[in-house]
Amino acid sequence: MNKRQVYWGLGIGISLTGLGFLIFHRRKELTDAVEQVEQKAGEVRQKLEGWLKPLAAKISSPFGYRTNPVTKEKQFHNGIDLPVPVGTSVKSPMDGVVENVYFNSLGGNQLIVKHSNGFSTGYAHLTKALVKKGDKIKKGQSLALSGNTGRSTGPHVHFTMKDAKGNYLDPAKVLYSIS
Ligand SMILES: [Zn+2]
Repeated sequence: MNKRQVYWGLGIGISLTGLGFLIFHRRKELTDAVEQVEQKAGEVRQKLEGWLKPLAAKISSPFGYRTNPVTKEKQFHNGIDLPVPVGTSVKSPMDGVVENVYFNSLGGNQLIVKHSNGFSTGYAHLTKALVKKGDKIKKGQSLALSGNTGRSTGPHVHFTMKDAKGNYLDPAKVLYSIS
């Protein structure tokens, strides 16, 4: 082996080690990111232990991006749809205070409850609210009667959850997964 071959050999060896290190490092970053997301979901589940489901129903439309059944446009569905007969009692999943009771053409009759850990829950397409803005709410209390108001293709409650920072959460993951 002459000097030149040794240099080449060393060069290739160092390059491969560097590449190997880069790949290892990148994989570790990805693994860490996944672990962080899973850890956060775990924390949210823990924070919500003892919460109730506001309605016992099978989810008819999940959280996330979907094609809107009415407009046919692709959009972000910020909650889950829970199909129940008109007039079904909607229970508060936890203690809280009614933040707002309102109407608009999209969600029909709606209300929002702010809970003690900073989370809030929202309910849309209601027949009517049984509480008013500022009311203190106990876990399990009837908040409203479900309905089919606003832009809706059938009787259901559109249920949303936000964390303390105002980010929408998937109720299927953080609440409906708790038995
Ligand atoms: Zn919905």
